[in-house]
Amino acid sequence: KLDPADARLLIVGLGATGYSAAQFLQQTPIKFAVIDSRSNPPQIDGLREQMPDVPVFSGGFDQSAFEVATHLLISPGVSLNEKAIAKAVRAGVTIISDIDLFACATDKPIIAITGSNGKSTVTTMLGDMGNAAGLKTAIGGNLGTPALDLLQQDADLYVLELSSFQLERTSALNAKAATVLNLSADHLDRHDGMSGYAHEKQRIFRGDGAMVLNADDPMVMAMLDRGRTHFSFSVRQPADFYLKRGDVDQLMFGGDVLMNADDLNLEGSHNIANALASLALGHAVGLDMNAMCRALRKFKGLPHRMQKVAEVHGVRWVNDSKATNIGACIAALQGYDRKVILIAGGDGKGADMAELKPIVQEKTKAVVLMGKDAGLIGEALHNCVPTRFAADMREAVSIAASLAETGDSVLLSPACASLDQYKSYADRGNQFAQAVMELP
Ligand code: ADP
Repeated sequence: KLDPADARLLIVGLGATGYSAAQFLQQTPIKFAVIDSRSNPPQIDGLREQMPDVPVFSGGFDQSAFEVATHLLISPGVSLNEKAIAKAVRAGVTIISDIDLFACATDKPIIAITGSNGKSTVTTMLGDMGNAAGLKTAIGGNLGTPALDLLQQDADLYVLELSSFQLERTSALNAKAATVLNLSADHLDRHDGMSGYAHEKQRIFRGDGAMVLNADDPMVMAMLDRGRTHFSFSVRQPADFYLKRGDVDQLMFGGDVLMNADDLNLEGSHNIANALASLALGHAVGLDMNAMCRALRKFKGLPHRMQKVAEVHGVRWVNDSKATNIGACIAALQGYDRKVILIAGGDGKGADMAELKPIVQEKTKAVVLMGKDAGLIGEALHNCVPTRFAADMREAVSIAASLAETGDSVLLSPACASLDQYKSYADRGNQFAQAVMELP
């Protein structure tokens, strides 16, 4: 609880999240200031113009600003291990997030989604499903619009994508339905190993709403609280929502056929898992099943996620630049029944790249590696398939083109973050598409 009489809130980090929090707090009696270690944080001009009375500290973490604060609202991009923050925490400051403020400010139902992969896809699917079911549905959080800005849309249903960093600093979300889609190694350079990462993700279930759990992921299933309403989903075994294999693969809810798997216009069985998770979450908040299936049939997938870029001389080029961790790359490769040429590499964020070896061996005929951790990945793969190194995307695409024969697929699914060589995963995906277009 924030008591406006005593609370002094410090927003740490002035990016999109920090700015949305400032705009929100400006409409309340709560006193607040903003701090950013950069001398020219992204939103500083807007803040100075719109809220000239709000104190702003920039170009470092001024200890005195932390000393007067009772609450810190820390942007997801700022580490809790920052010296000034750790010291304030030891001195008893309370950490909150924009998501906490959001949850206090609305009494409309919230669906909350986290996991290592599939968050944006599931969040977008649910947005379409909610709207198809006749509810004004707003989506955002880690994806697109910061949560607090969504309040302006005055929606009937909110769907939030949440990262482990957002969850790590959120206490009181109390979503009506929440899920951890899956867990694979990601951001281990910033979390306390895999158990620390899982622990942060589990915070999404705080409250008493319905739990939606992936029956194919034991680490997720371990989070189940049988005393709560819960739904499972699976692409491998019967569950509340599951994929039934047969002459025609079908999406099932208990004994009911919901739709044929082929009616989904999406690549890969991981997207069937995403569809099942979305159905379970929608069902948990009471969305109409027919309306949800209608929305799924129309869903076209998101850019940079298993997106077909071109077919050149009988070679299919697929952009999965959003595969910024091992789990996403494994899922991408699993979807192929013919060997592919894989372009991978970038910043591996401390993950153990040896986990890629079995699937690379099974599903690829060659790998082209680039970026900061190319050497590390090469060593981890142990030359299990022919391996080439490229300095940049243009070279990677040109090497892949020289290796590919008619009928092959070339897949960009880097298993790494992009920031060592690109502005973002989208920039990386666009450069890939560009290089493919420029092939002779
Ligand atoms: P997120 O928002 O969690 O990053 P996205 O929907 O943007 O998830 O997808 C990120 C990457 O993960 C893409 O490469 C996509 O192909 C892959 N992916 C999507 N859903 C899953 C899933 N359920 N399991 C594994 N990988 C997935």
